[in-house]
Amino acid sequence: MSASFQERLAEGRVLIADGATGTNYQEMGLPIGTAPEEWLFEAPEQVVELHRAFVDAGADLILTDTFGATPLRLQHTSLAGRVRDVNVRAVELAREAAGDRALVAGSMGPTGHLFEPLGPLTRAECIDNYADQAAALAEGGADLLVLETFFALDEGLAAIEGTRRSSDLPLVVSFSFDQGTRTMMGLSPANVVEAVLPLGIAAVGANCGKSLENADIVVAELLDLAGDLPVWAKPNAGVPKIVGDAVVYEAGPTMLAAHARRYAELGARVVGGCCGSTPEHVAAVVQAVASLG
Ligand SMILES: [Zn+2]
Repeated sequence: MSASFQERLAEGRVLIADGATGTNYQEMGLPIGTAPEEWLFEAPEQVVELHRAFVDAGADLILTDTFGATPLRLQHTSLAGRVRDVNVRAVELAREAAGDRALVAGSMGPTGHLFEPLGPLTRAECIDNYADQAAALAEGGADLLVLETFFALDEGLAAIEGTRRSSDLPLVVSFSFDQGTRTMMGLSPANVVEAVLPLGIAAVGANCGKSLENADIVVAELLDLAGDLPVWAKPNAGVPKIVGDAVVYEAGPTMLAAHARRYAELGARVVGGCCGSTPEHVAAVVQAVASLG
């Protein structure tokens, strides 16, 4: 059995996380509007191929293709009602690529609904939602769990509670500050750290977001406040632009790696990329962080 996430963090080395799932699948032919989870059954070889490309690039951990695999989000796909199947299979495919070379992190994204009274979601329903997904990811054999791209505190806290109800795996909690240095619901990095600090999670972080300049500010603020709690930074590859009929991210591998290196230098413990980050980006991040010695 290889070292756990906690053991690897304790070794002191900066861990490298993988890059994007969705934008890479789209490059590989996933039609817009199709849930990435559908590829777990319809194109498993593509799922394994991307995971393997990230592991070959040097990622220490890869995220499962389960960002939208909560019961609430699967409802809107052809996989409705198959939470257990989807999440177990996603971990199996990630493990096939990772073997002993990388950890498998079970990805869990937001429900896509706002809490009452702004939306239809109740706290109890939200807790159940994440308890179900976390149970399936744990059953599949995930090494850690990651709540990522969250933007609302009520949903994030309920997701932590639900996850904890069915698993004691290390839990990373990552918000998306995609309005610049605030989340869609107006949260600052300080708001997030303050809320999660007493909860015994394994790491707090930021993923996706807006520009890399914004990510620099967000990561610095997280690091300032997190104390001994490890910080996770997985920014998107800069701002996306429409060029012809393609979406192009402004940051190439070298630019993303320069920012990731700075985060590592400042004390971030896990760095990687989000939307627009390819295996080449991850390879550049690996090299840049290794040069820190
Ligand atoms: Zn993203």
